[in-house]
Amino acid sequence: MRQLHQLQLAQITLGTTLPNCRCSGNDIPGKFCCKKQLVFLTFDDAVAIQNIDFYREVLFHRRNPNNETITATFFITHEYTNYGLVHELYRRNHDIALHSMTHNPLTAYWASLNATMWQKEVVDQREQLSNFARVPPTAAIQGLRAPFLQIGGDPMYNVLKQGGFKWECSRPTLNFRKPGLWPYTNDYLSHQDCQIQPCPVGEYKGFWTVPMLDMIGDNNAGCAMVDTCTPGTFGIYTHAAWLNGTDDEGTVARKEGYIRFLDYLGTKNDVYIVGISQALEWVKNPTPLDQIPSSNLFKNPTRP
Ligand SMILES: [Zn+2]
Repeated sequence: MRQLHQLQLAQITLGTTLPNCRCSGNDIPGKFCCKKQLVFLTFDDAVAIQNIDFYREVLFHRRNPNNETITATFFITHEYTNYGLVHELYRRNHDIALHSMTHNPLTAYWASLNATMWQKEVVDQREQLSNFARVPPTAAIQGLRAPFLQIGGDPMYNVLKQGGFKWECSRPTLNFRKPGLWPYTNDYLSHQDCQIQPCPVGEYKGFWTVPMLDMIGDNNAGCAMVDTCTPGTFGIYTHAAWLNGTDDEGTVARKEGYIRFLDYLGTKNDVYIVGISQALEWVKNPTPLDQIPSSNLFKNPTRP
C-alpha cells in the first residue's frame, strides 16, 4: 500500500514538470522573483485597412531589451479580414492566432457548439488563413480566443487538442488577479474560477490555458478586455477600434494613453512585450533575465 502510494507520488511529480506540464497556480515558473515582466498585447477581430496603419504606427518600431522588435498576438476572424495584411503582420513576427470563422454574435451558439462545428470554426479557419495569408498552419497558428470569450467547454478543448493547437486564451479569472494566475496545462483539473460556462473538465495533456486576469472597472465590476471596462482602467487585451480613430475625443485620448503606456514599458530593461506563443516558450523554459539576450527566447526569425 505504501509502495503504491510512493509510486503514485513519483508519477505525479514526474508528470507535473515543465516544459510539458504545469499545474494551475500563481507561483512564477522557475521560482523567480518578480523582477521581470512579460506583457502580452492582443488585438481581436478582422485585420483590415481600417486598422493596419494603427498597428504599423504604434507597434512596428518598438524593441525589447534584447533589441528584437516587440510582437503582439492577433486573434483573427474571417469576415472583413485582408489576408495580405495578415501576411505583413506574420512577416514582422507577430503571433497569428484564431478567433473563429463566423464570429457568430450569439453566445449561446458557442456555448453549445458540437465538435464537428468547432472543427469548421477553427480547424477549417486555420487552413483557410494559412492558404490566403501564406502562414504555416501548425508551426505559426497555435492559439485561439473564443468569440466574446464564450468558450465551449470540452468539445472546444477536444477539437483544439486533437487539431494540434497549443493554447487558448479566453478564460477570465476574478479570483487569481493578484498575484496573477500563470498559464497552465490541462493535464489536471485547474484551480481557475469558471467565469463563463461551460468550462472544460476533461484532461488535455500539454494543452495550455492562458488565463485573462480581470481588471476592475470604475463600477467595481470585473472586465477581461480593456474596452469592456467602464473608464478608469488601462490594460492590454483590446480591439484596435477602441484605440484607433480621430473622430471622437475618447478614442484619441485612449490611443495617446496606450502609446504612453508602451513608451513607458520601453524604458524598462526587465520588460518584454511578446506574443503569447513566444511567452509560453519562456514559461516552458524559465530563463533568467540576463540570459535572455544570449538565448533563443524572444528571437524573431526571418520569415519569408
Ligand atoms: Zn471578437
